[in-house]
Parts: sequence; structure tokens; C-alpha cells
Amino acid sequence: MIPLRIYTHSACLAHRPGATHAERPARLQAVTEAIDAAFPELHWHEAPRASRSQLLRAHGDALLALVLDSEVAADAEPLALDPDTSLSHGSAESALRAAGAGVAAVDAVMAGDARRAFCAVRPPGHHATGTTAMGFCLFNNIAVAAAHACDRHGLARVAVVDFDVHHGNGTQAIFEADPRVMYVSSHQLPLYPDSGFADERGVGNVLNLPLPPGTGSDAFRAGWRERLLPALDGFRPQLVFVSAGFDAHRLDPLAQFELDADDYRWLTAELVAIADRHADGRVVSMLEGGYDLTALRESSVAHVGALLQD
Ligand SMILES: [Zn+2]
Repeated sequence: MIPLRIYTHSACLAHRPGATHAERPARLQAVTEAIDAAFPELHWHEAPRASRSQLLRAHGDALLALVLDSEVAADAEPLALDPDTSLSHGSAESALRAAGAGVAAVDAVMAGDARRAFCAVRPPGHHATGTTAMGFCLFNNIAVAAAHACDRHGLARVAVVDFDVHHGNGTQAIFEADPRVMYVSSHQLPLYPDSGFADERGVGNVLNLPLPPGTGSDAFRAGWRERLLPALDGFRPQLVFVSAGFDAHRLDPLAQFELDADDYRWLTAELVAIADRHADGRVVSMLEGGYDLTALRESSVAHVGALLQD
């Protein structure tokens, strides 16, 4: 079996939220160029578009209409949805390919075409709720993929592991009443979106580890080793999803954690071990945040390197 597929699409560069916006196309170029240079033998696949019915598993009709039917002209300024989040010409196609990557990755790992998959896509997704685009996110890519795994493939237990430095409020909101999906997150608090407190537990399927600004490798790894990884192991997920944001890196300008690429290598290896125990090794990882290009290059290579290990 092929150990790892990479899904991406050139249309994911077409979402342009503004010339000075942190969530810029150069992020994705940095990730794909670094992975390609480090691992020249990888199998790259073009992400298909998500279908409306696939998106509707996680989102309401009104959000689909807003993102897909707004028709921003090519020479127009981006349409602001909130102070952080906007739609440009090209955003709809970016969002469809980003969400479609996760769906295709699920189908590939469930069919045994690849053991694991990494989706190098943007815009990111984990802040988008069922009804609202927010926090640079239009559709919740990982939620669309996890819902597809449950509904299309009949999985009874899937885990969404979120190590982006921001809490994935959207993913939590979409699944907090769905016991098929366990949502596990470490993140900085206080920080946008100011959710993800330890007492937010869903129906027992949500586990949040908020950590203070200044958190470094030792406290981060201890939290995962002592709290989050044992809970994940106990859940016995049949498929492990990863919201792979790299903005907890010490170089990131939007947050105050002090991680480096080796922390992402370590945590990814731990997640692979859990997937190997319970899920025939299946991991579907999707790029979320990360706003320093050097940090993105180093961290995505560390993450993909660990996904490639048996
Ligand atoms: Zn983030």
C-alpha cells in the first residue's frame, strides 16, 4: 500500500482575502514546495470539488449560498464577512477544493489506496461553524471530511485531533452532540476565538487542553502525553483526522507558543501510533493555520515525515 498521498489544488491559491492578510497564498506555496523538496517520491493528487450534499453534512444552506453564489468580480475588492474573513473572486473554487480534498482523502484511505493522506489546502476550516464563516475559514474542511467518514463509510468512531494554536470552535460546535466524533484540541487561551475551556465537554466527546501564552515544548508534550493521548487511545478511533495548524511554532506572529518543528514530529508520531493500534494506520490530516513561512516549511516537513513512518 502507498504510505501517503498528498492532496492539493492550484485553485487553493485563488482565495485572496487581501494584500496584507496573514492567510495568504504564499503560505500554501511554502508548504507544497517544502514537502516536494524534502520528499520527491510522494504521490500528489488533485483535490476534487466537494459536492453540495457533502458540504451539507456540516453546513447549512445559507452558508453554502453565501460562499458559492456571491460572485465577487475579478477586479473587485474582497467582500468582508467579518473583520478577519472575506470572499474574493476565486474563493468559492478554493473552498470547494479545500473541502473536497478531505473527502477524497477519506475515500482513498478507506479503499486502501493509501494508508494516510495530507491535504495541503487553504482556506483553513476549523473556525467555520455549521452556519458561519469566520476566523479566515469559509467551510470547515475537516468537519466535512469527518462527517463523510461517518455517513458514507459508516464509521462509528472517528477522532478529530486539533493542534492548531487556536481552538477549533467550529469543529467542536458541529460535532459536540455527535458521539461518533471525538474532538480533542490543545490551544492557547486567552486567544481568538476565546473558546475551548476545559469544561466544554460536548456529550463527553470533546476534550480541550487550554494552555497559557509562553507554552513551550515540555508543557505541550506533557499535556498531550498525560491528558489528550490517553483519552484518544481509549476512544479507539477507526480513523484519525488531524487539524494540522502550525501556528504554535515559536516564529508564528499570531500567537505566543514556543514550539518548534520537532514538537510536530513528536506529536504526529504519537498520533500515527494510535492510528496503527486502532485504525489500520489510517490518518487524514489537513492544513489549518500557520502564518510564518519558515515555520510552515519546517513544520509541514516534520509532520509529513512522521506520517510517512510505519
Ligand atoms: Zn490557528
